[in-house]
Amino acid sequence: MAAVLVVTGPSGVGKGTLIENLRQRVPELELSVSATTRRPRPGETHGVDYWFLTDEEFERRAAAGEFVEHAAYSGRRYGTLRTELDERVERGVPVVLEIELQGARQVRRTMPAAVQVFIAPPSFEALRTRLVGRGDTETMAHLDARLQTAREELAAQDEFAEVVVNDRLEEAVAALEAVVRRGVLKAKGDAA
Ligand code: ADP
Ligand code: 5GP
Repeated sequence: MAAVLVVTGPSGVGKGTLIENLRQRVPELELSVSATTRRPRPGETHGVDYWFLTDEEFERRAAAGEFVEHAAYSGRRYGTLRTELDERVERGVPVVLEIELQGARQVRRTMPAAVQVFIAPPSFEALRTRLVGRGDTETMAHLDARLQTAREELAAQDEFAEVVVNDRLEEAVAALEAVVRRGVLKAKGDAA
């Protein structure tokens, strides 16, 4: 049985921050490194933060069926490579995907056993402040598009049985950890 956690929610809501904190509390949870066609932000490393691919390479891999899911977001492509999941699922290693809404919907169809959590901001203003606060050029160049997409994504949170509001970070991490221990790690135990 796959022990897969999907964390979704608008860009800038704190998904990456929450997952980093979660993995300190649940070290056996491994992170799926996504592929993307966007450029690296300062400090981002190929193979650690993302697999940074050219448009041609992404398209070739998509056509070859190498993605579990993939989507366009803010003019760029993002996707989960099967190689990030298959071997871990086989070994029973729990794995977390940090992906946007369209990808989460695809995973819901193809991997219904995966546990999905929507991360919501305390308010739209707080989301805007966090996105701007991150301050990278790529985000700022597409800020309006990202905020518009965020509005649409927030409207979809009712699709998710588990919603964690990322207001105070410590509380949100604790809530996410509770979901993981209840759903993901239990699923793994059941399969053993
Ligand atoms: P995402 O991965 O969803 O795009 P990030 O994890 O990059 O979001 O977080 C976006 C920004 O918001 C970062 O600058 C991060 O430090 C900040 N942030 C995350 N969680 C909180 C929180 N609970 N309160 C205030 N700021 C936060
Ligand atoms: P960013 O450019 O801010 O790193 O990511 C933009 C959005 O793409 C975020 O909402 C992030 O969760 C999402 N994303 C990252 N990796 C993937 C992926 O593999 N698949 C999908 N569908 N979305 C992803």
